[in-house]
Amino acid sequence: MAKETFEFQAETKQLLDLMVHSIYTNHEIFLRELISNASDAIDKLHYESLTNRDLLEGDTGFEIHITPDADAHTLTISDNGLGMNRDDLIQNLGTIAKSGTKAFLEKLKEAQEANSEVTDKDMIGQFGVGFYSAFMVADSVTVVTRKAGESQAYKWESTGDGQYTLDECEKPKHGTSIILHLGSDFYGNDKEENYTDRDKISGLVKQYSDYIRYPITMDYTVKEKPKDADGKVIEDAPEEEHVETRTLNSMQPLWTRNKSDIKPEEYKEFFQHQFFEWEDPMEIFHTKAEGAVEYTALLFIPGRAPFNLYYTDYEAGLQLYSRHVFIMDKCKDLLPDYLRFVKGLVDSPDLSLNISRELLQQSRELKLIGRNLEKNILKTLARDLDKDREKYEKFWAEYGKSLKIGIYSGMMTGENNVDKLKDLLLFMSSKDGKLCTLKEYVGRMKEGQQKIYFATGKDRAAIDAMPQMELLRDRDLEVLYMLDPVDEFAVQAIGEYEGKKFHSVSQGDLDLDDDEYKEEKKKAEDLAKDNEGLLKDIKDYLGDKVADVRLSNRLKSGAVCLVADAAGPSIAMEQAFAVADNPLLKARRILEINPHHDLFNRLQTLHEGGKDSQGFQDYCQLLYDQALLLEGILPDDPAAFAQKVAQMMAR
Ligand code: ADP
Repeated sequence: MAKETFEFQAETKQLLDLMVHSIYTNHEIFLRELISNASDAIDKLHYESLTNRDLLEGDTGFEIHITPDADAHTLTISDNGLGMNRDDLIQNLGTIAKSGTKAFLEKLKEAQEANSEVTDKDMIGQFGVGFYSAFMVADSVTVVTRKAGESQAYKWESTGDGQYTLDECEKPKHGTSIILHLGSDFYGNDKEENYTDRDKISGLVKQYSDYIRYPITMDYTVKEKPKDADGKVIEDAPEEEHVETRTLNSMQPLWTRNKSDIKPEEYKEFFQHQFFEWEDPMEIFHTKAEGAVEYTALLFIPGRAPFNLYYTDYEAGLQLYSRHVFIMDKCKDLLPDYLRFVKGLVDSPDLSLNISRELLQQSRELKLIGRNLEKNILKTLARDLDKDREKYEKFWAEYGKSLKIGIYSGMMTGENNVDKLKDLLLFMSSKDGKLCTLKEYVGRMKEGQQKIYFATGKDRAAIDAMPQMELLRDRDLEVLYMLDPVDEFAVQAIGEYEGKKFHSVSQGDLDLDDDEYKEEKKKAEDLAKDNEGLLKDIKDYLGDKVADVRLSNRLKSGAVCLVADAAGPSIAMEQAFAVADNPLLKARRILEINPHHDLFNRLQTLHEGGKDSQGFQDYCQLLYDQALLLEGILPDDPAAFAQKVAQMMAR
């Protein structure tokens, strides 16, 4: 078969372009990326060989071998892993299948368009672009590979300019060799980044790839005097040259080492490399357990939440190992979904190596490990909240939403997360604009206060401007701001805290406990009786838009407001559902009018002129539209609204 030429897929081209033009200055990471790919390929063969030993073709050991060639200006990374056939090459090296890399490109474009401070460097670190990073240091790359169990080998070549070629070739051993034809900046003793220098290579392996489970080897030419039959050096003989293969990495997985021997940088390096992260972790859990089940876990909370944490394409889960051998990536059955942001791995001799995902789900050991880890994580978070508030608030800013979702989704899945999580919640308080726990709120409640007041809105200013807030402010009652639609769901799931019920200021009766309020309420009720006809006519005019029209005793200086009936969702919740395309959940809206406002007198006068008069109807409509605006909702007909206001202003 003749050599064939292929075009890279458009996205691959884009990525290659970035690599070739070396936007990323930390070139050296290409080595760890290629070693990591080699190690993955060996993992795959190892796994498949468990059920088909023939695939090993008599191999007795796995190995990643590095060959620098100063004369040819090449660096070769070879492995005896699974290798690739023709289809694999086209699929894996010609296209970008990984959603992560696609997302990387999109993010990069966005960042560039927005001229954002997020640098390309940060982003490459975050996504780990793998194989293509070879083009940062190589003018051209040759891949020679043969898939284990197949006889035909292939040669893939590219200069990273948009095309690659494929050809058949000979390769006695299965596995893959990646040959980098180094660019002129990357070889020669006078170069800082000389990737044919053995010391440089071995240093990089130690730094980035020490814990890779397979030996990473390199040949050294050693000049030595020969030894005699007893192993004694023959002093007067001339030196002889021979080749010695040395293993560069210790191969000891980081998590198996003693905690006290591990430097913070080692954890950090491991975290970033193993999980394609670019920031430091904000929390590290390294635990060994013996007892009912034996395991070691190394878990991290990433410094920043991934942008897709709440999207369906985000894959949560921990890596699983058994006796240091990799079993599975992204095992979801260990941690509850609300801890989906936790990254890390679990290594347990109690887990069987070739267990299927289905069986794993039922594994008693796994459940036990998962429960322990969950407890551990929650305990650490509670400790942070108690001892290091600043750190906890940083955590909260990134992952608070997960915990809140956990609380209400637990209701649906039947796990009770409320008790586990309610004390970890933070809400912004009207008292000082700072975050507080429910315990703190309840602890400083005013004497006689029976409820935990909260208000929903899009931001603090919008809530402060709500007419209903005035009354609470006057009485110095603290209100929790619910700025995220999930807040309200969480609060509903909790129901009450230490016997105190949650009460929305924009729903139902405010129901304050003091005498003044009760008196006001009575007055409003009397007044409502006197104005029964007026209220009914407003309601009739507005029709289905509102469930009721009432006189308010929650307003001080505001003229109107819209509240939701106590039974049923709030208006904010209704809006959240509308966004989620679920208009089924509708709040029962109640229009409240302030009887002490001058506007009310005017309304009465207009009403006396007849309920069908234009003036009265305009007022009704405008009142309702205003109330909508106060809730951050546009009037149904904004143009008509503007026109009516304009007319009234001109009068
Ligand atoms: P990934 O993050 O998936 O490793 P890469 O761009 O680094 O992305 O590699 C793309 C794919 O090419 C890999 O998923 C793998 O299937 C294949 N590949 C890369 N290097 C090797 C190798 N040394 N042996 C076998 N397959 C490889």
